[in-house]
Amino acid sequence: MNLEKSMNAFEEAKKYIPGGVNSPVRAFGGVGINPPFIKNAKGSKIYDVDGNEYVDYIGSWGPLILGHANEIVTEELKKVIDMGTSYGAPTEIETKLAKLVCEAVDSVDMVRMVNSGTEATMSALRLARGYTGRDKIVKFEGNYHGHSDSLLIKAGSGALHFGVPNSPGVPADIAQNTITATYNSIEDITNIFKEVGEEIAAVIIEPIAGNMGVVPATQEFMDTLSKLTKEYGALLIIDEVMTGFRVAYKCAQSLYNVTPDLTTFGKIIGGGLPVGAYGGRRDIMEKISPIGPVYQAGTLSGNPLAMMAGYITLKTLRDNPEIYDELEEKAKKLEKGFEENAKNLGVKVTTNRVGSMLCTFFNENPVVDFESATKSDVDKFNIYFREMLKEGVYIAPSQFEASFISIKHTDEDIDKTIKANYNSLKKTIK
Ligand code: PMP
Repeated sequence: MNLEKSMNAFEEAKKYIPGGVNSPVRAFGGVGINPPFIKNAKGSKIYDVDGNEYVDYIGSWGPLILGHANEIVTEELKKVIDMGTSYGAPTEIETKLAKLVCEAVDSVDMVRMVNSGTEATMSALRLARGYTGRDKIVKFEGNYHGHSDSLLIKAGSGALHFGVPNSPGVPADIAQNTITATYNSIEDITNIFKEVGEEIAAVIIEPIAGNMGVVPATQEFMDTLSKLTKEYGALLIIDEVMTGFRVAYKCAQSLYNVTPDLTTFGKIIGGGLPVGAYGGRRDIMEKISPIGPVYQAGTLSGNPLAMMAGYITLKTLRDNPEIYDELEEKAKKLEKGFEENAKNLGVKVTTNRVGSMLCTFFNENPVVDFESATKSDVDKFNIYFREMLKEGVYIAPSQFEASFISIKHTDEDIDKTIKANYNSLKKTIK
């Protein structure tokens, strides 16, 4: 595989952009090779500046459920461009997208558009704090909700796991209001509520975690969160930035039959353009400025290009519900192929999958939380990743990320990927 032009592009980028990238994991830090620089993409494929073709399972980290440069999306976007790209004034397309979201997600009466998942979760927390008049929030170890101060927190020592900053620059004063609990541990969250339940503004959770590999919450755990938050007057925020419109049109919360107070969205809701959103119960959402006291704003929020990409994407998903069955079939085939390969080769891996999100852990034991996820053999994953890339299959350059399947992945792509998986797994055997 020739990556010479990419290497030169990376060297040039590093002169002007920290690490040469605008989001850290793109630098391929852990996996021991330089990242391909992408020139263009279509359907299930991306192409780098050296002309290499890859079957892509990143899909811009989740948004591209309809595939790259989807014809219907790009056609509408071209029309919008000619009409102006931003007005900073209300448009009808914002209402159309908001209405689709409210109709799709039972718990959402109103929704506010922002520009990223980070903004969505940050704003939802402010709203939860403003609504409840409380400061503390609970998040779970291994869940990622973007890089705002309150959420860039890891578990600290001490029985309650009061947070410590995950990054310099996050004030300790802020970190101490974030309690980090163990994912899928009913005992841990119950104890936390017993001790400080009256001070908790919100619990935020990835219902199917996709940021420590793929790790779904158990039904009992989601039920417990719902019960405890109600009992103590805290809000339940389900972060569907990754799972929203991905695992089901009615989102992950419909699979669990749990009704959160607030939901955060991103990725698919923007159809590949920069969008996030937060929504929920009317009485809570009406606390947001300009009708309520909780302030939140955005120069480019609801801009027409992003709204159109999101609107067309959601409308396509709504009008073609068979898409989710097709995605399930494709992903299942991939999972089965991976499992058979591992069995035939005697390689110990665990594949977790929910719908079109999946992840192979180099770990022979079940992966149910952060601790079990981090027991994976990262060195083996790195070998696997490099081999997959050589085989023309582009997965996320980290053991702790999900792969995403789009409607444009063909049977041929899936077969190629299963074959690549076999060859790459083989290379991980010493
Ligand atoms: N929440 C979840 C569940 C996410 O997966 C992500 C991003 N991967 C975010 C929030 C942050 O979104 P963004 O990168 O758009 O800020």
